[in-house]
Amino acid sequence: MFWEKDIETISRDQLEALQLKRLQETVETAANSPFYGRLFQEKGITPHDFKGLDDLRKIPMTTKEDLREGWPYGFLAVSRDEIVRMHSSSGTTGRATVIFHTQSDLDSWTNQLARCMYMAGMRKSDVFQNMMTYALFTGGLGFHYGAERLGALVIPSGPGNSKRQIQLIQDFDTTAIHVIPSYALHLTHVFEEVGVDPRKDTRLKIAFVGAEPHSEQVRERIEDFYGVRAFNSYGLSEMSGPGVSFECTCQNGMHIWEDAYIIEIVNPDTMEALPDGETGELIMTTLCRRGMPLLRYRTKDLTRIIPGDCPCGRTHRRIERIKGRSDDMMILKGVNIFPIQIEKKLMEIPGVGRNFQIILERKDFNDDMILKVEVEREYFTGDLKKLESLRKTIVNELKSDILITPRVDLVEPNSLPTTEGKAKRVIDNRKD
Ligand code: AMP
Ligand code: ZN
Repeated sequence: MFWEKDIETISRDQLEALQLKRLQETVETAANSPFYGRLFQEKGITPHDFKGLDDLRKIPMTTKEDLREGWPYGFLAVSRDEIVRMHSSSGTTGRATVIFHTQSDLDSWTNQLARCMYMAGMRKSDVFQNMMTYALFTGGLGFHYGAERLGALVIPSGPGNSKRQIQLIQDFDTTAIHVIPSYALHLTHVFEEVGVDPRKDTRLKIAFVGAEPHSEQVRERIEDFYGVRAFNSYGLSEMSGPGVSFECTCQNGMHIWEDAYIIEIVNPDTMEALPDGETGELIMTTLCRRGMPLLRYRTKDLTRIIPGDCPCGRTHRRIERIKGRSDDMMILKGVNIFPIQIEKKLMEIPGVGRNFQIILERKDFNDDMILKVEVEREYFTGDLKKLESLRKTIVNELKSDILITPRVDLVEPNSLPTTEGKAKRVIDNRKD
């Protein structure tokens, strides 16, 4: 039932003692990085100041902007020789942040993932098909090594190529899959198209779903169609990736591994600490990372700690399904996109007007982006070929920048709604 019973069912007192010890080590290591070295000096913080867990609050929070400013090596706390891997967030070039790992960082991350999958019921005898991108994105490699550590047979299918996915599932008796929820729903059509009923014609029993927000309704659809139990998996590259927080077989919230992270929930406007049960922004501190420790990192993800004990016996607290984000980041097909990226790109293209609007739709379980862009009036007079060629330029420019192909509608100047104050750039019509 447990991958590591002692640590998973550790008493609160022992857990806090372990956290304090690891926090002291982490702060000492972090002090070697240019960013924290400077910050500690400015604030007069020394590693010896950390006598209790509350002392963590002496440290200002770290943001994604800090990470960007520290690009590429500003957060590195060990010599570069010790680094064996880098990953980055799924945001595209301009907005990506980079994370470095030593071998021991990778070992503890891999172990965390094995712990998650074991908790959800995966065993050595399982065949695990990993439909996630194997690249800078952490979802592919993270789960891959975790499943190998657990001892399962791993099929590194990667994403896409739907018919082949189904073929692999059938030919190799895949029992567990790791998949982005929107893709899992999209794949249902392909199953129907090829006449395969996963409930009857496959051995599937477990699906790990994560990397993007999704509702309980989506989980139910996945479970119904595939005949599996679907487990929510939450993580972010800044905290190594997946394996941060995961559902147990009770499926009533995700245990967040408190031996590896200190968590805080704060009001995102005032930064005030919130008690268990109240919804706010999740703030995280790494406890098992030497290459690039992060202290009080603002995840921007909104959730709450579920008060009370879990019947499974694990003592690590649970967080609720992520409710949304406190910033304007959109997650489309698992890719993180900020409206500002689109704005920047659009505004570089001659002929583009002043206003634009992003509309997100979900059709056939697939996310689509429709971009309404105002263009200069001259494009609407005379030769309409010019308009079409501008439209194509915009599509191509954006495609190479945000990795998503938007549908672009060009409209006349001043025809899109404007608001007083902050522009409402994004209309999210996606419903589950
Ligand atoms: P990345 O660092 O590119 O992997 O993106 C991490 C972000 O994806 C997180 O901060 C969340 O906003 C989102 N995310 C990851 N897993 C989940 C999940 N299970 N539910 C909701 N959002 C998720
Ligand atoms: Zn549990």
